[in-house]
Amino acid sequence: MSTAVEHLLAVRNAIVKAEAGANRPEGSVTLVAVSKTFDADEIRPVLDAGQRVFGENRVQEAQSKWPGLRNDYEGIELHLIGPLQSNKSEDAVALFDVIETVDREKIAAALASEMKKQNRFPKLYVQVNTGSEPQKAGIEPKEAVTFVKRCRDVHDLTIAGLMCIPPADENPGPHFALLEKIAREAGVEKLSMGMSGDYEIAVGFGATSVRVGSAIFGSRT
Ligand SMILES: *Cc1c(COP(=O)(O)O)cnc(C)c1O
Repeated sequence: MSTAVEHLLAVRNAIVKAEAGANRPEGSVTLVAVSKTFDADEIRPVLDAGQRVFGENRVQEAQSKWPGLRNDYEGIELHLIGPLQSNKSEDAVALFDVIETVDREKIAAALASEMKKQNRFPKLYVQVNTGSEPQKAGIEPKEAVTFVKRCRDVHDLTIAGLMCIPPADENPGPHFALLEKIAREAGVEKLSMGMSGDYEIAVGFGATSVRVGSAIFGSRT
């Protein structure tokens, strides 16, 4: 068994334990395996082991790997988890099933127009910058509910969920709790939160999906 597959199984087990510990039904959390920087041949064993949901942070990198893998494997669900430039929205709508990083009006407008043009409707999440970090993408927490409403009312978009990346050097719990609170206020159901270092904690705060990269594929060089 490849190392990545061993790690995948360990992460799946840890998620089941965390679900039980949080009194949540088994299977309520989706594992998004973050395969950025790893090439198609490193991803194949994980696909062979049955994993079907993957995250990539760059449109161009994803385009170079996933059309080929989709020819070979059924049922792949691909999430864009990195910042989106509006000039890439055509490619993003064509390739991804979930776009987790809607965070400004211009992107919402570009996606709305592309989705109509292509008649293809990836699920959309709004990224919230819960730590208000200047270098990080995402809408400010205090603007998030209004932004979700504007996505609906102005751009006719369905927002399925919210996503956050807590500051690296902080306890993530309060950030997960804040995202959950904003989701309730905005009336959205999905919560994408938790990465290799904190996905079990995120499950306790209500994550519906966790984005786990290095704990499966190893460290990125
Ligand atoms: C890279 C990345 C991850 C995965 O990070 P790990 O710590 O390797 O699990 C999750 N979410 C986003 C947005 C990322 O860019």
